[in-house]
Amino acid sequence: MNLIIMGAPGAGKGTQAEIIAARENIPAISTGQILRDAMAAGTELGKTAKGYVENGDLVPDEIVIGIVRDYLKSDACANGFILDGFPRSIAQAEALEKMGVVIDAVLSIDVSDDRIVARMSGRRVCKCGASYHIDYKPSKVEGICDKCSSELYIRADDKAETVITRLHNYHAQTEPLLAFYNERGKLIRVEGQEEVEDTTRLVREALAKVGGR
Ligand code: ADP
Ligand code: ZN
Repeated sequence: MNLIIMGAPGAGKGTQAEIIAARENIPAISTGQILRDAMAAGTELGKTAKGYVENGDLVPDEIVIGIVRDYLKSDACANGFILDGFPRSIAQAEALEKMGVVIDAVLSIDVSDDRIVARMSGRRVCKCGASYHIDYKPSKVEGICDKCSSELYIRADDKAETVITRLHNYHAQTEPLLAFYNERGKLIRVEGQEEVEDTTRLVREALAKVGGR
């Protein structure tokens, strides 16, 4: 299954992408995580991306398109993939079509802006890519990652004012993709719930209609 998962920052798309990836046994590719890893490693890509990411702005299209193009060519994606956080602009979606990549479904997790702002303040992440929420998805031991036991931290771009910029950019640049994929008959919308398990159930029911397990 070739899947795109969309949603405002903090809507829970990364969490759902991980769950679907495990169930379908396909990789989830998060462009945001690839950029954060590059920033942590101090590579050229990371140095270029840093200013954009920390301001809550989109990294230029040609950079992320290149990352995704390389990844989709790799053997890991032979049986399908989940794109988490890509495409995020019409130009990126058009680039994906030009690559000849066939998408089975585009899943959008819908959450209102006020709930997003409330949620983001509770998000905690780990350098291994795992993410938690102090109320909705707590780690077993407070402040410590379940998967690798590292200390959790607040993402630099989860500051209140940066969240506002990211939401603004989501509405301006990414939301038009809902119409783009709806026109192509690919769009599935799920209302993001307070509890992760409730969203997971709705997502699973929705994907079952397009061949999900
Ligand atoms: P969220 O959806 O919660 O904002 P992500 O991890 O998906 O988190 O993205 C974090 C940041 O990485 C974005 O705000 C943006 O700066 C950058 N980024 C991720 N994916 C893309 C993309 N497809 N195009 C441009 N910038 C991106
Ligand atoms: Zn971890």
